[in-house]
Amino acid sequence: MNDTMRSVSADLPAALGAAGLLTIDLGALRENYIALDRRAAPARAAAVVKADAYGLGADKVVPVLLDAGCRDFFVAHFSEALRLRPLIGQDCRLFVLNGLLPGDEPVCADAGVIPVLNGFEQVEAWKAEAKHRGAVLPAALQFDTGMARLGLSLDEARALAADPAGLEGIRLEIVMSHLACADEPDNAANAGQLAAMLTAAALFPETPVCFANSGGLFLSPDYRGALCRPGIALYGGNPQNGAANPGKPVVTLSVAVVQARTVPAGTAIGYGGTLVADRPMRLAVISAGYADGIPRSLSNRGSAWYDGVRLPIAGRVSMDSIILDITALPEGTLKRGDMVELIGDHQTLEQIAADAGTISYEILTSLGKRYRRVYRNPQPLKA
Ligand SMILES: *Cc1c(COP(=O)(O)O)cnc(C)c1O
Repeated sequence: MNDTMRSVSADLPAALGAAGLLTIDLGALRENYIALDRRAAPARAAAVVKADAYGLGADKVVPVLLDAGCRDFFVAHFSEALRLRPLIGQDCRLFVLNGLLPGDEPVCADAGVIPVLNGFEQVEAWKAEAKHRGAVLPAALQFDTGMARLGLSLDEARALAADPAGLEGIRLEIVMSHLACADEPDNAANAGQLAAMLTAAALFPETPVCFANSGGLFLSPDYRGALCRPGIALYGGNPQNGAANPGKPVVTLSVAVVQARTVPAGTAIGYGGTLVADRPMRLAVISAGYADGIPRSLSNRGSAWYDGVRLPIAGRVSMDSIILDITALPEGTLKRGDMVELIGDHQTLEQIAADAGTISYEILTSLGKRYRRVYRNPQPLKA
């Protein structure tokens, strides 16, 4: 279910037997990268392509970003870096955010992958590898500036900087940290993390600073350092809560109706009978469920759209199907094979995420394998 074409041809059954049709607009992705890179200037924008480029397919996404001028890539796991290394040439930097696990060091060095060193143990392991090879190895160094996730504390950073042999055999490419609240521009934690980052970075004055994620790029220019690390904004997610989305949507998702029916008042609908029709209702069953990444938390809460009309989810989301209340549509409107929208013009990624009690990131990275995936605008846009 993985094909590349310019647009969805109207005369094809749109989902071709798949659970639904997922379109990924590589032209919009490209425009989003270029806009973020311009916004970052004079810093550069890297691209975070972890989790298979937020579920959209790193093998399709990475070539577009390379063509758009991106030269720095971040993944989370070392296994992701090894998979992407052949796509991302040695003239580009490929960083692993989760750093080194014991035993990864030789393969990491052989592959030319750059670990983000998140603590003393990782620094020591990388130094040992460099010594063993009699080589200098590249690394990023992360500080924890207020998230308690990964990175050296300020005290540890001071100790490392004060030790003349602290980074022996290591060439620091960047120093970095990660913002915990960048999607909330008014959150005071941002300024606190910035101050801590500037303090830590001053200990390594020769090394470029890499700090802002998508949200950070929409805080003040102080957050941008030399290299920014956007992820979600590349893929059409809104980097800031409550503000208009500055980017272009990349993903649409529509799902086929497999059956429409009318039920009398009193009918229990779906698993557990959590919804009982209080009037005669018209229902449509669509061909996707939680196994396709439509969260079960949308049961009796979320909706799909057809022809500008909101169709509430009736009862629980099943593994492979969802029941919609289509009573609001004129009778006979929605037929077997018709496609309803889950993500698109009427329902953004953020809206479906909010209904599900989650965030756009989780919706994207959960998108299932059973959709027909159509990559639009695969060619570079002509200027
Ligand atoms: C995921 C991640 C990013 C990208 O964040 P977005 O909010 O998607 O832009 C950047 N840096 C680190 C350390 C991350 O884990």
